[in-house]
Amino acid sequence: MLRLLLATRNAHKTREFAQLLSPEFELQDLIALPHAPVVDEKGSTFVENALLKATAVSRCYSGLVLGDDSGLEVDALDGAPGIRSARYAHENAPDAQNVSKLLTQLRIAKVRPNQRTARFVCEIALARGAAVLGTFRGTVEGMITQAPRGGGGFGYDSVFVPSTHAQTFAELSPAKKNAISHRARAVALLKKALLANL
Ligand code: IMP
Repeated sequence: MLRLLLATRNAHKTREFAQLLSPEFELQDLIALPHAPVVDEKGSTFVENALLKATAVSRCYSGLVLGDDSGLEVDALDGAPGIRSARYAHENAPDAQNVSKLLTQLRIAKVRPNQRTARFVCEIALARGAAVLGTFRGTVEGMITQAPRGGGGFGYDSVFVPSTHAQTFAELSPAKKNAISHRARAVALLKKALLANL
C-alpha cells in the first residue's frame, strides 16, 4: 500500500482524508513527524498555501507529501472568509466563533436568503523532495443558512447546505458529505494522478 504524509496537525482533516484515500493509500500526518516545521500560511490563495505546506514538509521527509488548504468563500462577502476561514473571528478562534461572525456579517450586510451563495474550496499539492508533482482542486457549491443546524462535522459544516441536498453538511452523514465534498473532489483527482503513475 502506498504511504502518503499529510502536512497537517488537524485530526478532523486527517480523518476525512484517510477515509477518502482508503483502501489504496495509507495516510500519516504530522503527529507521526513531531520535528516537521510549523508552516506559516502566508500565501494569498488556497493553492499557494497548499504548496507552501507540501514543499516545506517534503524537505524533511523522503516520501510523498500532501499539503492542503481549504475554506469557505461567500459571494456576498466578496469571497470572505476564504483563506482566513480557520481564523476568521481571530487567531485560534473556535469554530463556533467563526460561524457566529459569518452569520453576523451576512446579517449586517442584509443579504437575502437567496443571495447567500457560497462554496467550499480544497486545494491539494503533492510534493516529493521539495519538488511539486501536481496540484488538485475540488469545490462544492451551496448556500449559507440563517442559523447553525446539525451536530456532525466541523468548521462551517453547520451553516452550509450543498446545492444537491436540503440538509447542512453537519446534518448529513460523513459518507454523504464525503460523496460530494470539495475535499472528496480534490482527492478523486489526486488518486487518479497517483494511480496513473504507479
Ligand atoms: P486550513 O485548511 O487548515 O487552513 O483551514 C480550513 C478552515 O476552513 C477550517 O478550519 C474550517 O473552518 C474551514 N473548512 C474547510 N473545509 C471544511 C469543511 O469540510 N467543513 C467545514 N469547514 C471547513
